[in-house]
Amino acid sequence: MTLEEMTDYVKEMGEPAFRGKQVFRWLHRGATSFGQMTDLSKTLRETLERTSFITAPTVERKQVSKLDGTIKYLWRLGDGNCVETVLMRYRHGNTVCISSQVGCRMGCAFCASTIGGKVRDLTPAEMLDQVLFTQLDSGEEISNIVLMGIGEPLDNFDTILRFLTLVNSPEGMNIGMRHISLSTCGLTEQIDRLAQYQLQLTLSVSLHAPDDETRSRLMPVNRSVGVEKLFETCRRYFETTGRRISYEYAMVDGVNDSDWQADLLAKHLKGMPGHVNLIPLNEVAESPFKPSRRVREFQTRLERQGVTATVRRKLGGDIDASCGQLRRKRMEEEKE
Ligand code: SAH
Repeated sequence: MTLEEMTDYVKEMGEPAFRGKQVFRWLHRGATSFGQMTDLSKTLRETLERTSFITAPTVERKQVSKLDGTIKYLWRLGDGNCVETVLMRYRHGNTVCISSQVGCRMGCAFCASTIGGKVRDLTPAEMLDQVLFTQLDSGEEISNIVLMGIGEPLDNFDTILRFLTLVNSPEGMNIGMRHISLSTCGLTEQIDRLAQYQLQLTLSVSLHAPDDETRSRLMPVNRSVGVEKLFETCRRYFETTGRRISYEYAMVDGVNDSDWQADLLAKHLKGMPGHVNLIPLNEVAESPFKPSRRVREFQTRLERQGVTATVRRKLGGDIDASCGQLRRKRMEEEKE
């Protein structure tokens, strides 16, 4: 519930409005039972106990990278399903990468999160819980959020909006929109819809190829959209929101790393403020694709044509916590 909804909820119980704020604050500090809310009257605590429930995931598994201290959590949700969350430490603060769905139905050929398809959408509370309980369990304050875990955020649109309202709330975790990135495989209608909200978050678009043949091979979503329409939508997004888009490009050996593809990408981005984030492909056991050996050359070729391109640093490599490696199950279970 938002603060307003929570306030209405307690008012209906005959309580003063400020009780809503108290409950909201407790929940956003990680309270897992109404009994903990010691500044509420006993009667209210009992009424809440009878009429409501609090979601809280449990840690099914926690792995800490020996390389860089990245932490990966596998959470068990109320209904037994599991999702992963990753905590990354950067000099400019801690970033949490959260999941938006149990599984994913987008079917990208190089990504582990889509194996087994989508089971269900997460709820706004389950998304907030990933941020909150990662902070509580790790003892590390979280300053940035990336919606880049399991699932396609824009395929769960209303949930994402509500999650953003909650996590942004001054009475809650108070994480500013400029500290949040949302990554999408490129659902054009939803990108247009998102633009209308004029949010200050960073939109990342998973591009991975500048031509339809390659992009459709890697990403089934492209078969109905196409690169041309995707770029038109991105241009509109920039014009409406004034926010530069970041394009993710996972570099796959012999598939999307040739010079002509760098040139075509530069051509598409001409006159469009944006930035390319090259991701050295992370290996996924079930996928035939190999990491490109031409990342630097590709980057240089883009930059020579006026396109800003950076290479994403890999974190959590020893615990399968890197881009495209998150799963809703343990690997050994999957093999059973
Ligand atoms: N569904 C959203 C959110 C996932 S974000 C999206 O598609 O954007 C995760 C990012 O990692 C995406 O850009 C995704 O394409 C990328 N990715 C997936 N598998 C990868 C792999 N094996 N190596 C590198 N990046 C990968």
